[in-house]
Amino acid sequence: MTPKTQIITDIDYDRPGKQQGTIRIPYSHNLAGWANILIPITVVSNGAGPTVLALGGNHGDEYEGPVALMKLARAIQPCDITGRLILIPALNLPAVMAGTRLSPIDGVNLNRAFPGKYTDTVTGLIAHYLTNVLFPLADVVMDLHGGGRSMDFIPCAHLHRVSDEAQFQKMLAAAKCWGQPYVLIYADIAGEGLLPVQAENMGKLVVTTEMGGAGQCSPTVMRITEQGVRNVLSHVGLLSGKPAPPPQEVTVVAATRREDYHLSPAAGIYESFFDLGETVEQGQQIGQVHFPDRFDWAPEPVIASGSGILICRRFPGGTSRGDCVAVIARPVEV
Ligand code: ZN
Repeated sequence: MTPKTQIITDIDYDRPGKQQGTIRIPYSHNLAGWANILIPITVVSNGAGPTVLALGGNHGDEYEGPVALMKLARAIQPCDITGRLILIPALNLPAVMAGTRLSPIDGVNLNRAFPGKYTDTVTGLIAHYLTNVLFPLADVVMDLHGGGRSMDFIPCAHLHRVSDEAQFQKMLAAAKCWGQPYVLIYADIAGEGLLPVQAENMGKLVVTTEMGGAGQCSPTVMRITEQGVRNVLSHVGLLSGKPAPPPQEVTVVAATRREDYHLSPAAGIYESFFDLGETVEQGQQIGQVHFPDRFDWAPEPVIASGSGILICRRFPGGTSRGDCVAVIARPVEV
């Protein structure tokens, strides 16, 4: 019989207690013919309860999730939980070590590599292991993202509008527990093969986030991230205690139309006229692209395609034509 995966681990997922080990990805290359990539994993198990799979570092330049989950992995003990917690803080380890969105090994975006194949490049093998080994174990899949080096977000939990209404309401309730003023319903405008979509299609309660960004770990966003993880773990019954109440009422906003994602009309320097969280009106100019080599040319305007709040914007000033420079989300009833 063909094994489910080429990846091996020293973890016994059925064993009670706390284990720290690695999952090992075969990687034969010029400088090491029989090498493995060793991705750290922590599993904590205590009695009957939900299994939560918590992942950071799907994209290697989004640091908030990896830092929050590394801290949790060191601190948490079996007596703190009822159920099983599987923590992989740096899921795409080569990308996290390089601080890049894509893997430096094969140039693949892990969050476009699902479901993966039994025989695949390194990144596809990671996706395949999740699809075939870890997702079937999990009731809850938490995938922590931020804006990375290219974007900055209002820290929020986000989710897809999945067609299964009961699944959607469970995901929405967990997202609201994150404890932030906004929950974002988003759409995939740049390709398929996403980790959360694979987990959603397998019926999991999926919680994802956009925790800040700008290639950093700000103290404010780190506090939000760590508290949010604990809130969701409490909400699903893994961690004892009640989730902390959100600081204010939670507003659900949606950016589900392609035109909510504003692409730069030209290469140059993007100047945003608005800060994150500000309200904009349809038809309003929200920014412009300057041409540093032709400043005698008028800047190219970026116009709001709809009214709402600026939930995300490009972080570096420099932009190429077609880069996402602004996302506008509007309040919705769900
Ligand atoms: Zn990401």
